[in-house]
Amino acid sequence: MTRITADVRFLRGYNQARVMALGRTVRTFERSTVVEATGLTPQAVSKVIARLSADGLIRPAGVRRTGIGKPAVVYELVPDSRYAIGAHVARRTLRLVLVDLAGTVHHSTVSPLPGDFTPEQFLVALAAGIDAMTGSSGVRGRLTGVGIGMIGPLDHAHGLVRDAHGLQHWHDVPLREIAEKHLGLPVHLDKDVTAGITAEAWRHGGTFGDAALIMIESGIGGGFWLGGTAHRGAHTNAGEFGHTVVDLNGPRCVCGRHGCLEIVHNQAADAGDIDRAARVVAVGVVNLLQTLDLAHVVLAGADLLRHSRTYLAAVTEAVQADARRADWLTTKVTLSSLGADVIAAGAAMQVLDQHYGIPELAHSLIVGS
Ligand SMILES: [Zn+2]
Repeated sequence: MTRITADVRFLRGYNQARVMALGRTVRTFERSTVVEATGLTPQAVSKVIARLSADGLIRPAGVRRTGIGKPAVVYELVPDSRYAIGAHVARRTLRLVLVDLAGTVHHSTVSPLPGDFTPEQFLVALAAGIDAMTGSSGVRGRLTGVGIGMIGPLDHAHGLVRDAHGLQHWHDVPLREIAEKHLGLPVHLDKDVTAGITAEAWRHGGTFGDAALIMIESGIGGGFWLGGTAHRGAHTNAGEFGHTVVDLNGPRCVCGRHGCLEIVHNQAADAGDIDRAARVVAVGVVNLLQTLDLAHVVLAGADLLRHSRTYLAAVTEAVQADARRADWLTTKVTLSSLGADVIAAGAAMQVLDQHYGIPELAHSLIVGS
């Protein structure tokens, strides 16, 4: 419930966000459905529906005749009324996607970033990419904002990149603020893996249980969805899955410890032994399951997807052999449902969530009111 209140000024009211969350879940609805789901009065709902219609976010989609009384107007969401851009920042590439209000990915582009790029170089590339994506289509005026899924560590709440792993010029960079100034659009900043798990939660809807997204690209990270929401941790630093130790006598890692999953994995991958690299990740995933008892593990990231079958097989096998010691313990292992777009798409969905509420939360609204 709290996440839905995130930026309700934009919609001139909490109730509008609740109605939008419902509309984005069920796609077609009528006034009585909203009254039932939200507990608002029919008069209040009529006002909200009138405002959302005037803003072009919903539109009438016919009538339903009940036999007695006046037929009820059925409304539907207008997916192309609003869009968000999502950016996935990796060490060498910038991926951009255009996502509509319903969460559909329309365009996806990848462009190279200069080696060890600075914040200024990144902003120039981001602005050029957004212009190219929205310039001719007339989408620009319907852009809600830009979501950036970035290499951590970063402070999500304050929009601050603390020290992006492997990038020298990113120490305490107030990226959200400088990007908003540069682009003239609202910006949402989150860790790449957290954006990614948000996209998976959207795709799976209300049935998505506790889950992790394991990403191998620009290092190895984990994004977590726990108790129905993204888990960022006390310092928004959750997800340093690659820096958990799998070998006490292992090689020294960039973080200073020995035998981190990331360095052990990378040494195997660099030597061309993908089977071993995949087994290292599988050991880490089983450790996670033993700690967090997850229902779903999603595998993602360009370096993993290049050998998707090997990683999927190794993790699935390890989960069955080592983690599921009882038949009531079940964990689904899948590849990312959006492939290489998952981080960028999730970043865009976070922007839409912030302004229009979380679709699957509408279910809990119905139950809770
Ligand atoms: Zn490490």
